[in-house]
Amino acid sequence: MQTEFIYLAYLVAAVLFILGIKGLTKPRTAVKGNQLSALGMLIAVVVTLFDQNILSFQWIIAGVIIGGVIGATMATKVQMTAMPQMVAVLNGFGGGASLAVALANFYGLNHDLVPMISISATVLIGAVTLSGSFVAYAKLQELISGNPIAVPGNKVLNAVLLIAAIGLSIAIVNEPTNTALMVALVAVAIVLGLVLVIPIGGADMPVVIALLNSYSGIAAATAGFITNNTVLIVSGSLVGASGLILTSIMCKAMNRSLTNVLFGVMGEVGETVDADEVYAGKVKSSSPEEVAMLLETAERVVIVPGYGLAMAQAQHAVRDLANVLEERGTEVQYAIHPVAGRMPGHMNVLLAEAEVPYEQLVEMDTINPQFEQTDVAIVIGANDVTNPMAREDKGSPIYGMPILNVDKAKTVVVVKRSLSPGFAGLPNPLFAKDNALMLFGDGKKAIVDLSASLKEAD
Ligand code: NDP
Repeated sequence: MQTEFIYLAYLVAAVLFILGIKGLTKPRTAVKGNQLSALGMLIAVVVTLFDQNILSFQWIIAGVIIGGVIGATMATKVQMTAMPQMVAVLNGFGGGASLAVALANFYGLNHDLVPMISISATVLIGAVTLSGSFVAYAKLQELISGNPIAVPGNKVLNAVLLIAAIGLSIAIVNEPTNTALMVALVAVAIVLGLVLVIPIGGADMPVVIALLNSYSGIAAATAGFITNNTVLIVSGSLVGASGLILTSIMCKAMNRSLTNVLFGVMGEVGETVDADEVYAGKVKSSSPEEVAMLLETAERVVIVPGYGLAMAQAQHAVRDLANVLEERGTEVQYAIHPVAGRMPGHMNVLLAEAEVPYEQLVEMDTINPQFEQTDVAIVIGANDVTNPMAREDKGSPIYGMPILNVDKAKTVVVVKRSLSPGFAGLPNPLFAKDNALMLFGDGKKAIVDLSASLKEAD
């Protein structure tokens, strides 16, 4: 195949990846973005197969069919709440694939400087991604405890392993035929991945997954230098950079530094806050009928979804409630916090599934000044993202995390099953505020009952 044609095809694929990522930044264009990226990947794979004169197409086609069936089955079967562990597995496979490419080339004949540096870097990053991602999967799937697991001397151990891995990588570049060094590098990098992720737990896991996603991209990019494959370098760099940006956005939204996520301990300070003291005699429980009466006279209602909405699968029920309200002439909007739920964009995806109009989803910074003009804010299964401690309590572990100021609305109705804390493990003084009413129950059932009561009132 003509070299010019191959580079042109790689350029088209790279442009499709970039347009795809751009499309993924908005719910309205996300599906299109995904399709463009998939088309780019198809072009890249087919052109690479021709370029490398790969003749045993029967194996490749068999691989594509088997992989395609497994991928399609996983994509359709996986629950939205299990998405983070699915991404963890995919990152692990990405890192593993780059590791395999590097090892195969290590046993090849090309021992020039650039390929050898690329091989060492790919083995190191690929193996860390592989083992780290599978620990992340095991934690999220609850195969092992999802809580932070203390590893004695964690920071020192990480530093020693990292220095050993870098030392081995340099040694391999100098001695490209030394298999023992390569085996040692793979072993050290795998242990490094384990030690890096085992101590992390709880709400920090999605951040770690974004970081591992970035690592899998970097490993692919360095693998591109081994095989001199431009499209792999471009796509790997895109994944590496976007994963890092996502990691940074998530850290900011949780008001934590990356070092704190990787080496700090989450959830310790919260245990010292006494929930009984926060709630004592101040929490008012309500009923669907009572809340329906409030809604009857409301001109503006803001719905605040959180992780519990996903757990209850209440998105369709919420959309129905919004329809009932809108038919009565009430203005309805949804307030979207960047880390509500358990993955970035979790609430957007859920509400899009129920065909909530995109223009009703309002970002935190835009909706916050509007809560004072809101008659009723209905918080459904959200907790940490509405916790006023983040604004007011300097000693709180979530102090400084931007929150949705639902307590500024005339009335706040909080739908959840109990007074249990959210992911950060903290009590929420919102529930004890004068203008707050608790509607205890499963998110879906409570909202269905609320819609029924509102309809009865008509
Ligand atoms: P939270 O985890 O703070 O709270 C969820 C609440 O949902 C719980 O208090 C629970 O209360 C309630 N709930 C659970 N099941 C149901 C149900 N079936 N029906 C009704 N309510 C239910 O969720 P938020 O969305 O407010 O906050 C997300 C948290 O996750 C934050 O701490 C954030 O930092 C963290 N996080 C999010 C990431 C992301 O990318 N989105 C990434 C990293 C961390 P009860 O048991 O009483 O019902």
